[in-house]
Amino acid sequence: MKDIFFTHQAQTTPYPIALEVERAEGVYIYATDGKRYMDFISGIAVANVGHCHPKVVEAVKQQAETYMHVMAYGEYVQNPQTKLAKKLTDNLPKNLDCVYFVNSGTEANEGALKLAKRFTGRTEIISFKKSYHGSTHGSLSVSGNETKKYAFRPLLPDVKFLDFNIEEQLSEITQKTACVIVETIQGDAGVRIPTKQYMQALRKRCAEVGALLILDEIQTGFGRTGTLFAFEQFGIVPDILTIAKAMGGGMPIGAFVSSKEMMNVLTHNPMLGHITTFGGHPVCCAAAHACLEVLVDDGVVKDVEQKGALLESLIQHKRIKEIRRAGLMFAIEMENEQIVYEVVKKCQEKGLLSFWFLSCPESFRIAPPLIVSQEEIQQAAKIIIDSINECC
Ligand code: PLP
Repeated sequence: MKDIFFTHQAQTTPYPIALEVERAEGVYIYATDGKRYMDFISGIAVANVGHCHPKVVEAVKQQAETYMHVMAYGEYVQNPQTKLAKKLTDNLPKNLDCVYFVNSGTEANEGALKLAKRFTGRTEIISFKKSYHGSTHGSLSVSGNETKKYAFRPLLPDVKFLDFNIEEQLSEITQKTACVIVETIQGDAGVRIPTKQYMQALRKRCAEVGALLILDEIQTGFGRTGTLFAFEQFGIVPDILTIAKAMGGGMPIGAFVSSKEMMNVLTHNPMLGHITTFGGHPVCCAAAHACLEVLVDDGVVKDVEQKGALLESLIQHKRIKEIRRAGLMFAIEMENEQIVYEVVKKCQEKGLLSFWFLSCPESFRIAPPLIVSQEEIQQAAKIIIDSINECC
């Protein structure tokens, strides 16, 4: 199998992990060599309800037996989509009452950027250094990591980058600005948490000049930071919210969410202002609905902060320079890149999956499924501490 993976599948790095997966359940991924791994990155912030949550699996099975794709997005009334749109908007502030379903995070951001340009009639987009918003042309254009961008220019024009969490620079947002796109907590920059004061000033500045505020909660959403969405902790509400990753409980789905008034501009001049064939796939919507029930109705989200605090308390070590954490989203900063590399490798040998960040080589990522138990947190913490102790 590995031969085929290396010869017939496109590679994204010269050294993929190449773990051969047999099955996954809850916090665990089981490899074909019989080894069991604690997935402490949740497949990069996806498995918030754990792998193969029984309620998600049941919803997928039932919907797959009823109907799968029937029509491109937006034409037919499909019960899994409408049920999900209702449940999602019931859990969001009033102005976020209209959902456009897509297939992934980057597509959610593409749609949001187009909506902002169309609604405001402006072209300038403001984003932030070290941000990550996706790998397609539009999302890449507004991502702040130059090493991932230079080979693909020209990208979108009229994009400006500010330093994150620096209030003095907010005056750069003007009446020319269509939108500001920002991760509520920067993920791939290595879990950078802005101050509440900064986020409120950003919200205020956007409102003053008529620029739309797009909050990218693709990584922070669905309970990851201790509330269903991270913006709840900053006392602000975006004009457009983008979501994906954990949304589908393991199935691919994303969305951009705004007011009905705003979203309506996509229906004319031109009609079909945004198009997707598979967006809002009924099986993915059924999975996402079940996932949201588990997170909200079964009370998974409410325990996230306490679990995060427990894990943080157990991984104190003199070689750790800093722990940046929101709920169960961690960046653990070490003395240098080499130690990060060694710790990640050693954790893997000991049966725990951690990973790097795109724009923060001196930290490693920990983001376990939110359903992780206290016992599993204790086991994982021991593996992390042992791995650090064994590093030279
Ligand atoms: N936005 C953020 C904050 C992300 O972390 C990611 C993915 O890591 C994306 C957007 C892109 O999502 P996707 O990989 O589903 O296109």
